[in-house]
Amino acid sequence: MNAVKVPLKPGRSLMDWIRLTKSGKDLSGLKGRLVEVTEDELAKHNKKEDCWICIRGFVYNVTPYMEYHPGGEDELMKAAGTDGTDLFDQVHRWVNYESMLKECLVGRMAVKPIAAPKEISSTLSEEKKQLNGMLSEKGVLGASTKDVMLSYDWFQTDSLITIVIYTKQKDLNAELVIVDCQDKRLRGEIIIDDHSYLVEVDLYHAVQEDLAVNITEKVGKVEIILKKNDNIHWKMLGQPLENHNTFIKRTDRGQFYRKCKLVSKTEVTHDTKLFCLMLPKSTHLRVPTGQHVYLKQIIAGTEVVKPYTPVLPFLPLDFKEPSCHDGAHIYLMIKIYSCGPFTQALEHLQVGDYISVSNPEGNFKKSQVQASEDLFLLAAGTGFTPMVKLLDFALTEVSCLRTVKLMFFNKTEDDILWRNQLEQLALKDKRFEVKFILSQPTKDWMGKEGKISSSLLSEFVKRSSKYSKVLICICGPTPFTEQGVQYLKDLGYSQEEIHAFTA
Ligand code: FAD
Ligand code: NAP
Repeated sequence: MNAVKVPLKPGRSLMDWIRLTKSGKDLSGLKGRLVEVTEDELAKHNKKEDCWICIRGFVYNVTPYMEYHPGGEDELMKAAGTDGTDLFDQVHRWVNYESMLKECLVGRMAVKPIAAPKEISSTLSEEKKQLNGMLSEKGVLGASTKDVMLSYDWFQTDSLITIVIYTKQKDLNAELVIVDCQDKRLRGEIIIDDHSYLVEVDLYHAVQEDLAVNITEKVGKVEIILKKNDNIHWKMLGQPLENHNTFIKRTDRGQFYRKCKLVSKTEVTHDTKLFCLMLPKSTHLRVPTGQHVYLKQIIAGTEVVKPYTPVLPFLPLDFKEPSCHDGAHIYLMIKIYSCGPFTQALEHLQVGDYISVSNPEGNFKKSQVQASEDLFLLAAGTGFTPMVKLLDFALTEVSCLRTVKLMFFNKTEDDILWRNQLEQLALKDKRFEVKFILSQPTKDWMGKEGKISSSLLSEFVKRSSKYSKVLICICGPTPFTEQGVQYLKDLGYSQEEIHAFTA
């Protein structure tokens, strides 16, 4: 399901909502009281003018929010008087409703509805108490559903603490390991398909800022190496935190953010900038091709979260070797909207300021490209961003690819992102071709004009041979993507041959 934006009435923007929440108006309808809500009571509030929704055990009166909801009233009404957690998670799990709807809070469910039960949580009660060097250095967690056995261990030298996580996954790589250490809190997450394993500990003693992560891919072993602040013997690793040693669905894991420093902001076009963010030294994070991160900012006192897709600093023209990503920086190509509260706040960030960046998310799998001979990319505006790493990956690492074609839709010539680089790339690499389509060109435009259409696509998306394996990736404004997918299906392409980037 996609999060579709519906036109909002004037005076119903995000900023208007934030202003209303600060106005002191009684938005919950209970004059600041919090109540325990039974399922029967919840079910009674199922009308537009009296609409309560439960999200993760908390009940909100969303009636005042109806007109401000970018997804529209109908979407909210689907969950009226019920537990909307699943629906919410499907459409916009990342929206920080706790902050957005805090003034609408009615109370808690009397009996908490179980929306997304954690599959397995640690049952090692002894270990939950403390991670003692003698007794509980090891933790073991078996996951019955997936035949995954995960365990961790730790040891020390005079100067180092090493935490070892054994996953027994053969294809473990740096993109599947996310480690952070902030104020003695160590968090190591391993992604295994759509699940996540977490080691999360309040360390016994302080450690230095920089940490190292070593991955032995063949056996799926991860070592997290921390430098002790003082060369003293640790009696234990530390206190386990709530989600320590759990293996659950990724979607059930709360978002984790770390603060990244803005190190540069450079112009790409008249309204689009390349933001370079530096990860803390105590973070190990690589954003996989095709995935996005969330940025979080406090806007007028309310936490607001939006997704962005990391790109490379530039399009590598020499696709002989996998590009060396230093791992310390995240590059984001962001269009600044004059009436967009989030991008306006980004625009006002100064070099040296910090911004919160989440773990990566997204359902694109590189294996989709690895199997294809023809790759077609359809991008509109900043929908180009996922195509950057995808192009790099395809042209560098996918040997069976014969053609890679990008059809790039923009309003005007001035809006085309990295036009020069794309043209250079097309000259350099025979497999790559780029076509620019403008919807609002000037008279001098010699290229194609128009919007995404069946005729444009049928001309462009052609198999290089009758049975060649094709992958078509599409990204842009939601209606553009939805229309494009429909046209492609009408042209006979199967669901498996199409990947639409959405939230
Ligand atoms: P918004 O308030 O969202 O406004 C943006 C524009 O939409 C404005 O012109 C506004 O007038 C219009 N608008 C707002 N609300 C409505 C409405 N209800 N109906 C019709 N029009 C409306 N953007 C990038 O620049 N780079 C990226 O790499 C990137 N990656 C993304 C990845 C994903 C998975 C997704 C879903 C989006 C991505 N985006 C990206 C878009 C980004 O998340 C924000 O939506 C964008 O930056 C606008 O935020 P804003 O709050 O500044 O503006
Ligand atoms: P834009 O400049 O407004 O539009 C780019 C091109 O798309 C223009 O030619 C425009 O034509 C056309 N277009 C716009 N809406 C259309 C529609 N309904 N049907 C057909 N064509 C349409 O684009 P933008 O401001 O950069 O926005 C990019 C969008 O991509 C944002 O909505 C962003 O959220 C999304 N995005 C998604 C992801 C993801 O992974 N899901 C990643 C990055 C960006 P007109 O002249 O007619 O407007």
